[in-house]
Formats: sequence, C-alpha cells, structure tokens
Amino acid sequence: MSTRLRIVGGTVHDPANGIDGEVRDICIEDGRIRASLPDGAPTLDARGMIVMPGGVDIHSHLASSSCNHARRLLPEEHSADPAPAPPLLDGVVPARSGTGGTVPTTFTSGYRYAGLGYTTVFDAAVAPVMARHSHAELEDTPCLDAGFFALMGNDEYLLRQIAAGERERARDYAAWLLGSTGAYAIKIVNPGGVEAWKSGQRNLNGLDEALATHGVTPRAILETLTDAANQLGLPHPVHIHCNNLGLPGNVAVTLASMQALAGRRAHFTHVQFHSYGGPGWSSGAVPIIEYVNAHAELSIDVGQVMFGPATTITADGPVEYLLHKSSGRKWVNIDIELETGCGIVPLLYKDKAAVSALQWAIGLELFLLSRDPWRVVLSTDHPNGGSFLSYPALIQLLMDRSVREEKLRQVNPKLLAGSALVDGLAREYTLNEIAIITRAGPARLLGLRQKGHLGAGADADVTVYAKDADIAQMFATPRYVIKGGTLVVEEGQLRRAAAGRRLYVRPGYDDALLPDLRRYFDAYSTVSFENYPVSEIPDDPLPLSP
Ligand SMILES: [Zn+2]
Repeated sequence: MSTRLRIVGGTVHDPANGIDGEVRDICIEDGRIRASLPDGAPTLDARGMIVMPGGVDIHSHLASSSCNHARRLLPEEHSADPAPAPPLLDGVVPARSGTGGTVPTTFTSGYRYAGLGYTTVFDAAVAPVMARHSHAELEDTPCLDAGFFALMGNDEYLLRQIAAGERERARDYAAWLLGSTGAYAIKIVNPGGVEAWKSGQRNLNGLDEALATHGVTPRAILETLTDAANQLGLPHPVHIHCNNLGLPGNVAVTLASMQALAGRRAHFTHVQFHSYGGPGWSSGAVPIIEYVNAHAELSIDVGQVMFGPATTITADGPVEYLLHKSSGRKWVNIDIELETGCGIVPLLYKDKAAVSALQWAIGLELFLLSRDPWRVVLSTDHPNGGSFLSYPALIQLLMDRSVREEKLRQVNPKLLAGSALVDGLAREYTLNEIAIITRAGPARLLGLRQKGHLGAGADADVTVYAKDADIAQMFATPRYVIKGGTLVVEEGQLRRAAAGRRLYVRPGYDDALLPDLRRYFDAYSTVSFENYPVSEIPDDPLPLSP
C-alpha cells in the first residue's frame, strides 16, 4: 500500500528549483516527492507556514570511534544533559534514551538533528580502519540518511605511492579504500602534518617542506588526492582541512593550498579555523573569501564558532596537543595504526575572550562577504566550533543585523581591529539564502541529487516551520519534519523515528593494486587484508540519479 501525503498551502522555499516563497502544495508518495497526487490523499495543513527541504549537514562529527572517545572523556556532560526516550508513537525504530551535551549518544544525535529539521548528515573524519565502528553507530542513529568521509593524506601506503611517483596507484588505492570502508568521500586533514608530528618532525613549514620520513610534501598530497577524487568522478570532491589549523598567520597556507589546486574542483572545510592573519591574531577572512568568490571550482563550509561549550575532535593530533597546552583542559590523543591520529580537547568559547570573539567575527565575515551561497555553506564543524543545536542562533545572526550588532557590542573587541564585521556589514540573509546554505547548497556540493530540493523524484525529506518573529526560535522548533515520507516531528514533538539510509560510494579501480596491497598488509598491519575493514553495509548503491 502506498503512503501518501499532501502538504497544503505552505510558502515553499526550494532554491534548487527556483522557487522562492511561492504558496504551493508538496506531494509525497512512497518516500518520494511527486508532481501530483490523486484527490483524497491525506493532507497536512501548512497554510501560513514555511516549507523547505530537510537540512543537509556537510560536515559534522557524530558517529565515529573519535566521537566515542569524546563521550568517554566527558562523563560530566552525561549527567548534566540526560535525554530520556521520547514518547514516540509507532516508529519503526523503538524509542531509546541517551545523553546529550556536545557529543550526544547515537539515538539522541538522530532525534535532535531531526528535531531541528535536519535529515541528512555526514561525519567528516573516519579513520578507515575504524570504519566498521562508524557503520555500527550510524545503524543506531535514526531519522538521518548519513555517511562519512575517509581520512587520507597521512596514511603510510598512500605516502609510499606518492613518494614512488605512483599517482595512478594512489588513485586506485583511494578508490579501494572508499569502497571497502563504505565511505562517501576523501577527507584530507593537515596533509603530511599529522605524520610529521607522529614521527617527531616539527610542524611542516608551508606546502613544500617534505616529510623527513617519506620525502613527500603537503602539495603533492593535496594534488594527488584532489586529482584522485575528480578522476574517479566522486559525487563530492576532495574535502580538505588545511595545514596549520588554528594558528595565527595560517591564512598564508590556506591561500597557497587553494592556489595549488586552482582550476580543480575541491572543497575546503571549516575555513574560519584557517583564516587567521599574523604574526599576531587578526582576521584574515577578506583575502580568503575574495579568493573563493573569484574561483567557481572551489567551495567551502564556514566552521562558525558559537559562544558556549564545544568539544574539539580532530584527526589533527598536533593541534589538540597545542590546544591542551594553551587551555589547560583535559586531552586525549590516539594513534591510529598506519593511517592517522585523533585528538580531543573540550573547550568553552567565551564572548569575553579575545580569541573566541575574533573566531566568531571571522566566521560571520566569511558568511556575510560570500557572493555565492551555493559555494559557502553553513557548518560549525559540530562539535568543534559549537553544537549543531546552535545552528538556529547562527541563522538568526545571519538574517538579523540588529541581533548581530547587539552581540558585537558585547564581545571582547581587543583583536577585532581591521575586522570587516566591526566596519559594519549590512547584509541580512534571506530565507531563500538560508535554504541554500543549509540544504540546497550542501546537497549540490555533495552530489546528492535526491536531497536538498522538493522537485519530483527527490527524497521526501521536508521541514515545515511556523513563522515566528524570533528567527532562532523558528528554526529551533520546526512544526513538522518529514523524513523519507515519514512524519517524524508533529506539532514540534518528535513522534516517530524513521530508519536512516547509509550513503556511500563504490568507485572502480584496477585489480593490479590488490597483490601489492596484500604484501603491504602482510608486512606492516595487524589487520588482515581479508578483514579490512567493513562488510556490514547494505548492498544498495547510492542513488545518484533524480
Ligand atoms: Zn571537522
């Protein structure tokens, strides 16, 4: 029996289909958007309300062994934010309790994302050898279609191939790694820098200082993996966390990385953390966003800092060591065999702290000086710059100049000299631009043709907001959320927990790679080649056609 629903009379913002605030019906049948439905189909009254596609988060940390280490590091968050099982009606997935805080448990992550109107989320950093763990967590994360990016760029086999000039084999290796881990995209974190730190070399200076262990430069890593992603025709290009995250003056290496890849499709992530002038602390947002504005092949997500508690979780181990030393907060460092690392430090971003205020201002500068919302999309690098629960407050800062300026008067101004934000940025995002940076844009950058829009054939992921003069309140409490055709939020309450789908790719590669990989595993890895690393993913290829 087909399940049908007609959402009647809402004001629709569907920028991918050129619809900016038109009153029209949205028809749903069997989990998809349809052009029409027969008379008599069940209806949902959305008159006077705002209708958008479900939110798409291009960069989050919600389902990985790193997140689990963070949960173990933060027991105080569990008691401070218990999350009882919600009173679900007839969900396919039974209701489960959990805990919240900056790194919620799996079920609570699914419920809270859905409660905000988000229905698709990617974990941005999974060590390939730990991919099995991420699949297990995603299996327990309801209401979200989700996938993850596989960490590359500091892994031993790849570095060996680059050192040997074997870039085609490096590409085949990337394809094999994506397919055998069930990942969606290639993620680079601090190219070469993590391996340098692990092997006792000081921080790499720029793109052309080679790893002492391999003779490979960050530039070669960036080029190899960017070309690999593009040659493999992956739906999402390489996803890059640049060198020198969080360090004053890092704008130079960020710009150099963008220039190194000029003309090639690439996504640079949490760019706020890579837009610091130097040698002291200052904003470097303007040259970065001007470069992005002028280069259509590039896209970024912002990585906004929001004031309040956060937990930094990254494969960039050396950054976390410095953060631990400078903040005095507790710290975990994890080495991941032959592949990467992971560091975790909890943080509190205070508006009276000069560096936090600068980071907050830089993120807003990137947003407000962006000329193309399709290529400059929303993220807080959850939970690094703040929880995803702060997205509504961030949307309000972008849409309401008076709220933004009031907050600007409250923050520590010590490092804000020369900030474009202080000079006054009048721009206010429109609802359509918000629909782009939170849905249509991320979906397009991820190559998800069935997500981020409400045209016929799209997945029936829909969020309905009741209009409210308080923009943050409006985005924090959608009236209705529909996930794959299932009404999961009704009247602002989570009512059903639909199961999510896994999003992954299986690119092709030359089988000649395999004997070499097997020799490598036999010689160096404690994991057997046959068991590397996951198999428990549904054999359901990614739907890439509309
Ligand atoms: Zn991240």
